Amino acid sequence: MQPLRLGDRGPAVADVHAALRSLGLLPDEGSPQPDGGLQPGQPSGAMDTQPMESVEFTETTELAVRHFQQVRGLSVDGRVGEETYRALNEARWSLGDRLLRYDPERPTRGDDVINLQDRLHELGYDAGPVDGVFGPETEVGLRSFQRDYGLTADGTCGPATLRALRQLGRKVTGGRPQLLRQSASFVESGPHLIGRRIVVDPGHGGEEAGFTEGETTESDLVFDLASRIEGRLAAAGATVYLTRGRGQNPSAAERTTFANDARADLFISLHMEAHRSEHARGVASYYYGTGSGASSTVGEQFANLVRREVVARTGLIDLGSHPKTWDLLRMSRMPAVRLDCGYLSHPVDRLLLLDARVRSAIASAALAAVQRLFLPAEADPPTGTFVLR
Ligand SMILES: [Zn+2]
Repeated sequence: MQPLRLGDRGPAVADVHAALRSLGLLPDEGSPQPDGGLQPGQPSGAMDTQPMESVEFTETTELAVRHFQQVRGLSVDGRVGEETYRALNEARWSLGDRLLRYDPERPTRGDDVINLQDRLHELGYDAGPVDGVFGPETEVGLRSFQRDYGLTADGTCGPATLRALRQLGRKVTGGRPQLLRQSASFVESGPHLIGRRIVVDPGHGGEEAGFTEGETTESDLVFDLASRIEGRLAAAGATVYLTRGRGQNPSAAERTTFANDARADLFISLHMEAHRSEHARGVASYYYGTGSGASSTVGEQFANLVRREVVARTGLIDLGSHPKTWDLLRMSRMPAVRLDCGYLSHPVDRLLLLDARVRSAIASAALAAVQRLFLPAEADPPTGTFVLR
């Protein structure tokens, strides 16, 4: 298809607007062009009064498209080509919007499928890669889940299955884990995160974007990563807090005070590195310590666990864990770790970090590390094997 760009008009542009609006990337009120596009809350009949032919791809549209491309890890050019168009359509679906089942002819794609795959994995079922495509492995995982929970094992995710998936979340957080123990590794470990309070701290924020190159900012990427980690930890029963919203940039003192006030059990700060040397690359983690005795042993342990899990799951190079006396680590009263996952200045690292699947793998690594930290030692599985296969 010919990419849609600034100045284009027509039904396809209207479609793009609708998708962006449903994602909250275009304001609901006052569409990018007053005479164009569907107004929120209006029935589709509104199209009659505002012909789709006149809907224009404006600068506001372009900005929203760029934003979307960036958070989805697509190439950021502000145009809607095939890849972006597909991603926009996939992003519109949330779990429960439609029936999901395996169709070998035209596999269903969408964020709802990602959500389902994620959920199945978190519950200990192998649903294949978390790629948003409902494939045969997703079906196998879904059927096993349905069998275990006394549902019709038809491989279709409909209302009954959704209800079970949701109720299960409540059971885990409600502290009745015995029902779930029979199943796979995650389920056994789930109870260990109940009652754990974890603060996830995306670095930078707001005006302070951290390392920036073109449309890519460290601040946005670590926020995306923090949200993924938050989702996984919460699904595992932990209580999770983020230190900032997308547009905020609290000081180090504000971040640690927040974690202290939340009486967190663990503090995880996220950054991505950059260096003048184009050779610098890899993952490092930091914990509180002076390098000569005084250090946080749990912090050190978690710094090692999370770094190794990330390395095992992403192929990023291992730069080790190091004691530091930074305020962020020093002022927090709980074990605190800063994870620098990759160099945005390195071409390979950068490509990996822009890939949403890699950020998803880093989030899984963080979950695995947290679970291992709180698991009894004898149950500790080898690095890189936990939860996701
Ligand atoms: Zn940073």
